[in-house]
Amino acid sequence: MKIGFSAQDEEFRQEVANWMSEHLRGDFESLRFRGGPGDEHMFPHERKAWERELASGGWIGGGWAVAHGGRGLSISQQVIFHEEYARAGGPGRMGHIGEGLVGPTLAAFGTPEQQRRFLPGILQGQAFWCQGYSEPGAGSDLASVRTRAVLNASGDTWLISGQKVWTSMAHESDWCFVLARTEPGSVGHRGLSFLLVPMNQMSIRVQPIQQLTGTAEFNEVFFDGAQTAADNLIGKPGEGWKIAMALLGFERGVSTLGQQMQFHNELDEIIRVAKANGAAQDPIMRQRIAQAWSGLKVLRYNSLRMLSGTQDGNLRREAMIYKLAWSNWHQDLGKLAMDVLGSAGEILEDAPYQLSRLQSLFLFTRADTLYGGSNEIQRNIIAERALGMPKEASNRS
Ligand SMILES: Cc1cc2nc3c(=O)[nH]c(=O)nc-3n(C[C@H](O)[C@H](O)[C@H](O)COP(=O)(O)OP(=O)(O)OC[C@H]3O[C@@H](n4cnc5c(N)ncnc54)[C@H](O)[C@@H]3O)c2cc1C
Repeated sequence: MKIGFSAQDEEFRQEVANWMSEHLRGDFESLRFRGGPGDEHMFPHERKAWERELASGGWIGGGWAVAHGGRGLSISQQVIFHEEYARAGGPGRMGHIGEGLVGPTLAAFGTPEQQRRFLPGILQGQAFWCQGYSEPGAGSDLASVRTRAVLNASGDTWLISGQKVWTSMAHESDWCFVLARTEPGSVGHRGLSFLLVPMNQMSIRVQPIQQLTGTAEFNEVFFDGAQTAADNLIGKPGEGWKIAMALLGFERGVSTLGQQMQFHNELDEIIRVAKANGAAQDPIMRQRIAQAWSGLKVLRYNSLRMLSGTQDGNLRREAMIYKLAWSNWHQDLGKLAMDVLGSAGEILEDAPYQLSRLQSLFLFTRADTLYGGSNEIQRNIIAERALGMPKEASNRS
């Protein structure tokens, strides 16, 4: 297990920290610590401009291979980048789906021509992406996707009909990757395909869904004969499930340590409030704060263990417990925030919704144990794949 960083890595850390302090200022100053979970709807245009600033420094696609326009950073360096980014208060990334999910997927499964067409837009902070997987009736059971795609008579265009749901930032996206059924009559994971679809067309309707926080970061997306070029299919028709699953594997990578740095920022805020309002004098509250701090350390070491020795990008088995571990820890942090706030946590500053950062944290963390794989699904995966227990009945096919 490798849990430290080399002297060279620490030099790189300084380089990132310097760049952040030199660039996250002026027009971008107001973006510090903004746009994270529960705040993702805020400042989209300014955060897109920030993506272009990141691109100008060569900080998008750091982990991508040089051949694809990236920097080819080692896992340690990518971890450091994410840590320093969050430490400096770098805003929630508008481009994370493109950089973290689409790029690696295209690198693995796209043709050279598709890579040439799509990767530069991501690297330059110009093209923004959303994820079209979930549907009403296909969430945990993703293989039940019903959105259909058919090739037109001339074979040059896919026509897509159906509905996606919970599509984060669809209203700010240029492109969506869509898991759709291309083999009529197929069921389960067979007959699905992975299509890249431009969002700016009349036959796609994006309808915001208001969340507990009163804001709308995600959407319903309706496809009514939406079009995409035949060569925007990744892989072959029918290979969608394989590609969709590989993409989910990229979700649990190096950015986990940056996420923890954000958690640290939230815990610091809770401690600040606890000291200010006297909650820090309460012995039980002190215990819970110390417990949260220790839990975060455990998450960090687990992540480092998970990432060590994975220079090929493939995560080890430790990754299976990570989603379960962080989501529960973070949900508890939301509860702690409310208890530290005390009665002030129950009051909204202004009707209808003016949530403080900690109130928003509490409400948004309700979703942590659902998205990216619910707790129950994660436990099923651990039971079946890590512990070798029998598959649940519905999966016996
Ligand atoms: C904030 C947020 C952002 C999201 N962004 C996106 C996005 O950008 N793109 C996208 O495609 N999707 C997105 N999602 C959707 C997310 O992936 C789904 O919510 C998730 O997969 C769960 O599916 P579901 O909501 O349909 O719940 P369901 O699958 O209906 O599950 C409901 C409950 O039943 C339990 N359950 C289901 N099946 C089993 C089982 N076999 N065994 C035991 N328990 C089970 C679940 O654990 C859960 O508690 C987002 C969700 C959230 C909350």
